[in-house]
Amino acid sequence: MGESIGFIGLGIMGTPMCRHLLKAGFPVTAWNRTPARLRPLAEEGAKPGVSPADVARNSNIIITMVGDSSDVEEVIAGPGGVIEGVRPGSVVIDMSTISPATSRSLAKRLAQRGVQLLDAPVTGGAIGAQNATLSILVGGDKATFERCLPVFQKLGKAITLVGPSGAGHTAKLANQILVAGCMSGVAEALVFARKAGLDLGTWFEAVKGGAGTSWHLTTQAPRVLDGDFSAGYMVKHHRKDLRLIQETAHEMGVPLPVASTVLQLYRALQSMGGDELGHQALVKVYEQLTGVKARR
Ligand code: NAP
Repeated sequence: MGESIGFIGLGIMGTPMCRHLLKAGFPVTAWNRTPARLRPLAEEGAKPGVSPADVARNSNIIITMVGDSSDVEEVIAGPGGVIEGVRPGSVVIDMSTISPATSRSLAKRLAQRGVQLLDAPVTGGAIGAQNATLSILVGGDKATFERCLPVFQKLGKAITLVGPSGAGHTAKLANQILVAGCMSGVAEALVFARKAGLDLGTWFEAVKGGAGTSWHLTTQAPRVLDGDFSAGYMVKHHRKDLRLIQETAHEMGVPLPVASTVLQLYRALQSMGGDELGHQALVKVYEQLTGVKARR
């Protein structure tokens, strides 16, 4: 197999992704800021790293799956970061969703050390990470992409080189506009139907195969109806993505009426204490505005 993997960031997404690579037989060195999250994977065979630099020293493909742009900067270029341990010829793959501009700037810094950075954010949710069915949107150099394909193939199904450095993140941000439209559409429709007195279970069965269906309708509406607001994809991460979309759109002068409105709704949800709930909790803002609850 040849490649040794470093994995940094063992959250909702990183844990199952790291597990797939271990199961595929890659030697894996892993690190997480909160050590308790590393323990189960260490028991399954991952070598515990003591810092991102240590992970990089022991690996030639280093994956980061953390949070926002500043988090990726910290684990790659901060004190004890990847850049302090990485060897020339290694590859860093950032699979978090962050700013394309930050990614391009990190790629330049790593290139000065003879290291390629691929931006490779994913879509498909926690379910996609668990089932290794993620869609992976890659930005960067073609030869490096081909070198990393055997790793990507253990994590996802649709794996696409979408363009040069930063293009993966730009493609992912465009996808997050789709998510904003779908999630808010589901929340708005549920509250409208309930306010009108419809039985929501019957309504869901009647429309789920029609022209208005979506992944969000079929996976998230049942969770709302059951009152399940646990996190697959946290509100704070979608809020972060919508902020990154606004920043990028601002640079280009592109108006985004839907994404802007949904960002405001998420800010309302944040102030209601909902930041760590799953993003299907967006419905709670509509419920607050209308006084009805979209449950079975
Ligand atoms: P999560 O459960 O909140 O996990 C985040 C992980 O990053 C944790 O292991 C956390 O460490 C680590 N981390 C965050 N900031 C850090 C920092 N400054 N230094 C070191 N470690 C740091 O989030 P997630 O759902 O796995 O999402 C991870 C990334 O994937 C995000 O960019 C998100 O937008 C993106 N994403 C998520 C989904 C989804 O459905 N969940 C889908 C596609 C993409 P601790 O354990 O110490 O907190």
